[in-house]
Amino acid sequence: MSEVDNLFVNSMHEWHASVLGQKVVKALNKNDFDAQYIESEEQLLAKLSAMIKPGDSVAFGGSQTIKQLGIPEMVSGIPATILDHNAPGLDAVQKLEVMRRQQVCDVFICSANAITAEGHIYNVDGNGNRVSALIFGPKKVVVIAGTNKICHDEASAWDRIKSVAAPVNMKRLNRDTPCTVTGHCMDCSSIDRGCKAYLILKNRPGLTDFSVFIINKTLGF
Ligand code: SF4
Repeated sequence: MSEVDNLFVNSMHEWHASVLGQKVVKALNKNDFDAQYIESEEQLLAKLSAMIKPGDSVAFGGSQTIKQLGIPEMVSGIPATILDHNAPGLDAVQKLEVMRRQQVCDVFICSANAITAEGHIYNVDGNGNRVSALIFGPKKVVVIAGTNKICHDEASAWDRIKSVAAPVNMKRLNRDTPCTVTGHCMDCSSIDRGCKAYLILKNRPGLTDFSVFIINKTLGF
């Protein structure tokens, strides 16, 4: 394929992702989430920094998307108090204490494993701290997802979780689970199983201020 053909194909992909992203935002808004479609990282960081006040406590649900976007660095410059249970030097008891404080932080930021065209948000968790904070506790929740997380419907969301999100994450974490070999979920009974709590948010949880940003990029897995 020529360079011009490549440029054309790439711009068609971007256009398609953009249309899809805007459609999902409409569906999320219909489900009472405060959702916005974002074209660039700069735009996203500006909107996010406007939501966080100096001194706010901010926590992140384990997310490659958040790391790729440089959000922890941006937040530390506000300056806000970052509740990081993976901070160096914490022993097991201190780590657990930070995880408990995350549940009632001012702003909780994470991504999603899948978001459907119906505006439903899917997440799978091992310890449950991420999914529980998404439902209730933090004063504000922000979910940020690239257009690669968009799925047509519930079946394709589960397919994405079982064939991409969970196995790739297990491999990243070096877990001894069958999906790290087969590349797809075997609904294992391994002691190392990382999929223990499954959450679908169909509407905004009633007592949570909940924003969603869909960004026209491929982020996380
Ligand atoms: S349930 Fe087990 S096999 Fe399935 S994705 Fe999770 S860790 Fe892998």
